[in-house]
Amino acid sequence: MKKLINDYMSLTYRKIDADFLAKLPANIKSDIESYNNRMLGKPFPSGEKVIVTYCTYCPYCKKATMGGFPDEREPTFCMFCGETDTYIKVTRSLSKAKDLLILSNNTIIDVNLKRILHEQIIIIIATSMEIFLRDIYATLLNIRYIKSNLSLYERFYRDSKNDFATFGKAKKELQNELNINFNTFLSDDEIDNLNILSLKRNVIVHNAGIIDNPYISQSGQKDLAIGRQLPIIESEINLYIDAIEKLSNGLFDILKKEHEDELIKKFEIILVK
Ligand SMILES: [Zn+2]
Repeated sequence: MKKLINDYMSLTYRKIDADFLAKLPANIKSDIESYNNRMLGKPFPSGEKVIVTYCTYCPYCKKATMGGFPDEREPTFCMFCGETDTYIKVTRSLSKAKDLLILSNNTIIDVNLKRILHEQIIIIIATSMEIFLRDIYATLLNIRYIKSNLSLYERFYRDSKNDFATFGKAKKELQNELNINFNTFLSDDEIDNLNILSLKRNVIVHNAGIIDNPYISQSGQKDLAIGRQLPIIESEINLYIDAIEKLSNGLFDILKKEHEDELIKKFEIILVK
């Protein structure tokens, strides 16, 4: 996983640090700075002292506030709606898949159990990619087109369910609605691989892992036979994980930048008006 902007994965919680203060317009900078100075060192309910402060703005429910913590932990979910930050969801799922892949290589695992683990890994990574893409789609629409005091995230997320079940459609939606081109982050081969991943997940979930007609026609893998077990090998799983990491890093950078701009605007509304 590459180093993120400010090495910081959470969207909801923006740490008040020198980098953030430097981005703030003059009309709110002194307010946020003085809040930061007042909070630091204050006793937390646990008796420890606050050592880090945040401006929080949830990309899902759009509630905003400020707060502090007694340690450098990175808060991962919104305290109002409970949604976990989108990038954290996808990285946790990929990390679970990597652990299962290591487990599948253990010599005590027999061939049937290995197959089950490989199928589960395909389901986990394909689902995490689908959810991440829907999250990006719904949160960016919510930022770009909906006022900062309103949220249509749930509506955008719910309405996109059918389109995001296949990778090709998700890619088209993000291109058409948000002008995001996956070729910016991925090669054609990597895009093809993610398409195959999404089709394989559908075969495992909907057809017990047995190759069917739709899989052959949509994947273009004409050499496979209907009715046979869908092939899954370890090297392809690694390719899928690498491609999802590249795509999620690229998309998260876009979302993070736009969300931070929006967070600053939101605090201008809260603190100035
Ligand atoms: Zn929230």
